[in-house]
Amino acid sequence: MKKYDEVTINPNTGWKSMTEAGKMYARGNSESFLTGDWRTMTPVWDSTKCIHCLQCWAICPDMSIEVEGGKLTGFDYDHCKGCGMCSKECPVGAIKME
Ligand code: SF4
Ligand code: SF4
Repeated sequence: MKKYDEVTINPNTGWKSMTEAGKMYARGNSESFLTGDWRTMTPVWDSTKCIHCLQCWAICPDMSIEVEGGKLTGFDYDHCKGCGMCSKECPVGAIKME
């Protein structure tokens, strides 16, 4: 039996190898969990409306708003859970949930 901090969980991991309730016991591995799999709603960005205020970036609980050079460039759909907070926060309606 592996120690919890040695367990690596990936999409092919069987249930017998999972940690209890999918708990993570090692640091810095949250990126390996593709939480975007859970998403039922997807944020869709209209770049023509965006004023790059980055309020969506500040509020996203999953750090899934991608920014380069101080401007929004897109979304990390591998980790966005589709909570819709970015869409609610956007002052110009540049993000629609679909
Ligand atoms: S829907 Fe939620 S998780 Fe996805 S980018 Fe917007 S705020 Fe982040
Ligand atoms: S909150 Fe809206 S306007 Fe501001 S950066 Fe995000 S998408 Fe663009």
